[in-house]
Amino acid sequence: MLYQSTRSDHRVSDTAAILEGIAPDGGLYIDPTLAARPFDWQGCLALSPLGMAEAILSHLLPGFAGMGELVSRAYDGKFDSEELTPLVKVGNDFVLELFHGPTAAFKDVALSMLPQLVTAARTQEGVRDKIVILTATSGDTGKAALEGFHDVAGTGILVFYPDAGVSPVQKAQMVTQVGANVKVCAVRGNFDDCQSGVKRAFAALTGDALPAGCRLSSANSINIGRLAPQVVYYFIAYAALLRRGEIAPGDKVDYVVPTGNFGDILAGYFAKLMGLPVGTLVCASNANRVLTDFLETGVYDKRRDFLKTVSPSMDILVSSNLERLLFLASGGDSALVADCMRKLSSEGVYRFPDEAMARIRADFAAACCEEEDCLATIGRVWREQGYLCDTHTAVAMKAARDFKASRPSGRKTVVLSTASPYKFPAAVLKAIGGDLSGDEFAQMERLHEIAKTPIPRGLRGLKERPVLHTDVIDAKDLVNYVQRQLNDKGETR
Ligand SMILES: *Cc1c(COP(=O)(O)O)cnc(C)c1O
Repeated sequence: MLYQSTRSDHRVSDTAAILEGIAPDGGLYIDPTLAARPFDWQGCLALSPLGMAEAILSHLLPGFAGMGELVSRAYDGKFDSEELTPLVKVGNDFVLELFHGPTAAFKDVALSMLPQLVTAARTQEGVRDKIVILTATSGDTGKAALEGFHDVAGTGILVFYPDAGVSPVQKAQMVTQVGANVKVCAVRGNFDDCQSGVKRAFAALTGDALPAGCRLSSANSINIGRLAPQVVYYFIAYAALLRRGEIAPGDKVDYVVPTGNFGDILAGYFAKLMGLPVGTLVCASNANRVLTDFLETGVYDKRRDFLKTVSPSMDILVSSNLERLLFLASGGDSALVADCMRKLSSEGVYRFPDEAMARIRADFAAACCEEEDCLATIGRVWREQGYLCDTHTAVAMKAARDFKASRPSGRKTVVLSTASPYKFPAAVLKAIGGDLSGDEFAQMERLHEIAKTPIPRGLRGLKERPVLHTDVIDAKDLVNYVQRQLNDKGETR
């Protein structure tokens, strides 16, 4: 029983944690012994990217049989780079491109793997029920999850996205999704409304409220099966720096991570707990700077306006995975974590103890990129380095610059690039002074003429694909909607 809820002593195996997604008490599953269990991280760095994935995932999820096979089924032929996540030198820094998968965002790395883990866990646990994945998305998770789960036997998937909160390209990717076991629905509201609706559905639809023969799970980063695959690319980046002679073995490397739900950056912390010489993890936020304020003050306060920015996948005020960090930084004090989460939901605010904050600050720094700096950064990096980045990556680029100026360490810096610039063509074109006429698909072509890099496979021809999903609901109706879909003998069953 390796995995424990962050809110109680409730424990389950790794296979059960992945099938459940979230603990019955509302907590998130975590391995409290990760830092104490020995891992041959140096040996791991000598392996191929898929070899690293196998070694790391076997360590994080030791209950799974045949991890090597699951890894090759997840990644073979799906990414357009042999390195999986190539490391590109841009000026004095390094950009880790995480967007070479089927949907052109970093979530592909985890969501190519998750369906393999879910189906393997289902077999190992002897579960006959259909596993229905409920997902709230700020734009990228939804498509990556649909791409991963469509037509996977024994599973169904329901995706909820904020009606006016995703880019036209993101929306087109989702509403054209094929597959007999998929359903996509727009919600009138923002991402937090979608996420809290999905959490309510998990709480409401248990026991008799669930139709026989199915159970729910999550593809959001509250599922540990989402986080584990993301640990891998921190090792891939470090190994690439070693191979190119940019660092010596054991040198610390700082990682700057564009952050929303705190999943990506937490995976970097797991890599550090496993021994990888990670220096500072810089949490880069957009104008929704709730995490910047938390890291600076120790007070998490969601009572503020939700701002819609040009980096929509990071427009989040309730950053779910922070809960796992609170658990680790408090030395596994699940009562304290449960209390903070109760305050967050009832009062919208909590204060984390100073001593535990000091522990967090030893590993993490925060930086925020205001809206006007985002596009300015894309323009500057393009003019100065000839490198075109998307709006989310730009938030991290700006954060990296500010962090290095305020705390010069002489260490190498890796900036995580979470999406292809072609996914946000309007904002990127505007940033480099391009012609904005036409729709986002015309803009994508124009961007291609300027940047001369290939448009990702999954984004080509998007406009011509038929729209298959047109449902729109109010956030308050989300639980009923899920129930109707589950009772429906059709698609998602
Ligand atoms: C989801 C997402 C993020 C934020 O990642 P978290 O794990 O939620 O912190 C950043 N950039 C892009 C493009 C994303 O899709």
